[in-house]
Amino acid sequence: MKNIYISTPVYYVNGKPHIGHAYTTVIADFLKRYFEQRGHRCFLLTGTDEHGKKILRSSQENKQDVVDFVEDNVTNFKKLWDMLNIDYSVFTRTTNQKHEDLVKEVFSSLYKTKEIYEGNYEGFYCVKCEDFFTKKFSTDNQKCINCNGTLQFLNEEVFFLKVTNKREWIINLYKKNPRFLIPEKIKNELFNNFIDNDLSDLCVSRKKNGWGIETPISSGQEIYVWFDALLSYLSGFKQLKSESQEIDFWNDENIKIQIIGKEISRFHGLYWPILLDLLNKPQPNVILAHDWILFQGEKMSKSRGNIIDPNLLINKYGSDALRFFLLKEITISKGGKYSEELLVDCINNNLVNEFGNLFSRTIQMIIKYANGIIPESDLKSENTMHIKKIIMENKIKVENFWKDYFFSKGINELLAFIRDINKIIEDQKPWTLFKTNNKTKLNNLLNLLANCLLYIGWMFSPVLVDSWEKICEQLGILNENIDNARIENFGFLSNKKVKRTSHLFERINN
Ligand SMILES: [Zn+2]
Repeated sequence: MKNIYISTPVYYVNGKPHIGHAYTTVIADFLKRYFEQRGHRCFLLTGTDEHGKKILRSSQENKQDVVDFVEDNVTNFKKLWDMLNIDYSVFTRTTNQKHEDLVKEVFSSLYKTKEIYEGNYEGFYCVKCEDFFTKKFSTDNQKCINCNGTLQFLNEEVFFLKVTNKREWIINLYKKNPRFLIPEKIKNELFNNFIDNDLSDLCVSRKKNGWGIETPISSGQEIYVWFDALLSYLSGFKQLKSESQEIDFWNDENIKIQIIGKEISRFHGLYWPILLDLLNKPQPNVILAHDWILFQGEKMSKSRGNIIDPNLLINKYGSDALRFFLLKEITISKGGKYSEELLVDCINNNLVNEFGNLFSRTIQMIIKYANGIIPESDLKSENTMHIKKIIMENKIKVENFWKDYFFSKGINELLAFIRDINKIIEDQKPWTLFKTNNKTKLNNLLNLLANCLLYIGWMFSPVLVDSWEKICEQLGILNENIDNARIENFGFLSNKKVKRTSHLFERINN
């Protein structure tokens, strides 16, 4: 079974993390937990991008020393990932010495092979996006096409990375792997705007501002933040907690999945593969470039002042609720809307009314009709065969969606399964079976329903991390004992003692 490497971007620490950062990272964590559940060994890299003029400016605006400013924001990110149950393997930082050494080494070696050369950059630069713009994109109103910020005109002696001569190569890469960058529309935009149209060599240095990695060739310049940041995906392995764990996950045998926001797809879909190729490193298998979360119809941004702080939501509604909302309501290809009403609807409708209700009514019936002990099942009964079949069909559907990164569709299939099971309860009326003393049928049904709860809980466990613990506790089992085989073998729950503790999910009355 293949090992899987998953990365989030290294986040730019010019402020606190917002719900967009949370979304990207929840996808990564969900995938890690899901693949681990299926027996893969996974490695999840996240971290922070800490250099650049924008960060220096933000620290000054904040009247803080830049080192303290960065440190505070790194802490904010780490704290949020803990609160969100993000099980990362490494938190890489671009200010780490090992990372800086690698960046300089790569820069020097590419200069030696003449892939990096000296030249003059005349054109625009957006400090907010830390991005260069050719005149074609920006002369109209001198505003950044990305963030609408005012562009700076630069005329600097800088270093360039050869990109224009890689055009054929990059076209071929996408031919060989049409799903290298998904969704399709983002790939098409990249081709229309750059690869087919306006490919130019990339500036890989800026005039020194005192907060970056100095170029190893001539002084007075610092390495461009994106050249610096992209290499984090490779240097991260050097920043594991203990040196003995240092393993290079970026190799041919492993599956490599990178998750990003669509605004940085050019860096990842164009420059990153070129860098990897120059370093003789394998390419990622897929780059998922998700669309944005809109709030009140607009993209969230600091300047608009419409940033949603995920910490507040977690404190109010819990980590599982936010993870569930993000994976169900926001999709990679279309993004989605955030509002507190939508989040509360998800909690009350899906988690409380659907899942929570099925769970508590089943546990209650086992307590009332079977003294709290899950009865043994009749593996050969027609009802068992029937429910097993529903489970297996549902599982295939959900897994197919998730394999294709349609997280929301998979979640909706699980919710549909919950409704099917509720209907089975209404049809088979365990309360009547109890009254008429039809023990065989009743016991078998209770066992089947308990197995349905286990199935739903297990499938949801990469999303609902905290709730999974509660589910296992109430079913009288230990979560580490559950695997694919046990989900499919209905004997596992027989004679387990259920426990009625708190509700799985609390209704929100605003
Ligand atoms: Zn911009």
